[in-house]
Amino acid sequence: MLDIKITKTTAPKKLPDKDDPLTFGTIFTDHMFMMDYKEGIGWYDARIIPYQPISLEPSAMVFHYGQEMFEGLKAYKAKDGRILLFRPDMNAKRTNRSCRRLCIPEIPEEDFIQAIKELVKIDSAWVPTREGTSLYIRPFIIATDPFLGVRPSKTYKFIIILSPVGAYYPEGINPVKIWIEDDYVRAVKGGIGEAKAGGNYVASLKAQIKAHDEGYSQVLWLDGVHRKYVEEVGSMNIFFKIDGVVVTPELSGSILPGVTRDSVITLCKSWGYKVEERLISIDEIYEAYQKGKLEEVFGTGTAAVISPVGQLRWKDHIMRIGDGNTGPLSRKLYDSLTGIQLGKLKDIFNWTVVVE
Ligand SMILES: *Cc1c(COP(=O)(O)O)cnc(C)c1O
Repeated sequence: MLDIKITKTTAPKKLPDKDDPLTFGTIFTDHMFMMDYKEGIGWYDARIIPYQPISLEPSAMVFHYGQEMFEGLKAYKAKDGRILLFRPDMNAKRTNRSCRRLCIPEIPEEDFIQAIKELVKIDSAWVPTREGTSLYIRPFIIATDPFLGVRPSKTYKFIIILSPVGAYYPEGINPVKIWIEDDYVRAVKGGIGEAKAGGNYVASLKAQIKAHDEGYSQVLWLDGVHRKYVEEVGSMNIFFKIDGVVVTPELSGSILPGVTRDSVITLCKSWGYKVEERLISIDEIYEAYQKGKLEEVFGTGTAAVISPVGQLRWKDHIMRIGDGNTGPLSRKLYDSLTGIQLGKLKDIFNWTVVVE
């Protein structure tokens, strides 16, 4: 159990309007959680304080060597007023897997969840209620040693901030257009692709800009060695429905193990679908498309939940999927996941955790 010292703000901000569609990631709540780490002491000084700038030495290692990890999950307001988290234990476990890969000290799972719950409770008025909205929770850890030289830092800060959000893609649950990148790569096996680290995102920017310039909203990455096997989309895992079978890339070491991915696999299996986690080459996808067997394509992630893909562009080939409409499986997954997250549907897998 953390002993969290609480200092409330004396100048609460104005809450967003009830009808505000809430652009993703632009508004932050009144408070933040912070805790420090020092080698020999461990994590200490857990506190909730007013949301504010942090002060770091310009020599802080995170600025130079990128030793940083982050997480993302959401809190939802149920009809009965309860605030629900979705599978926070999975984020706690993944935090520690990321930490181990990035040589960052781990955080006990129960402390991670306690910190989130206490912070969300204090800013509970910020959990929005409009359809499709939620309170996005962003925990992260940064290396703070004032030191130039490559080694793991001996001091860190663990911080949690909160942001009321609407749809991640302005398109909402409408299909997105995706660019399949066969030049730049995001990660390779043995690298940090399976950790949730800022470094993976900076590696993705160049291709993201290229895709945008071509009129596509996201990049689908191929594997870094052969440029042949499908990996994942920007901040989502990817699924294909081919001839009735649900197929998704296996967790090969360079792919982020998504909580939504895991939930989608569980749901699809419970509905009787055959689900395959395996290598999928882009040639296989194109062949399935040409034979008319590529029935649905969708991305999965906390931010967008389910994001149907309406178009894939690979080299000079354009694959149009489902006439630009959201497929029935994508729709059913979206409705089921958001139904469970909002406490509207029976939580048969015990995925939700009540904050208050
Ligand atoms: C966070 C993330 C995902 C999705 O993971 P969820 O736990 O489902 O939100 C997928 N890919 C990348 C690269 C990510 O950073």
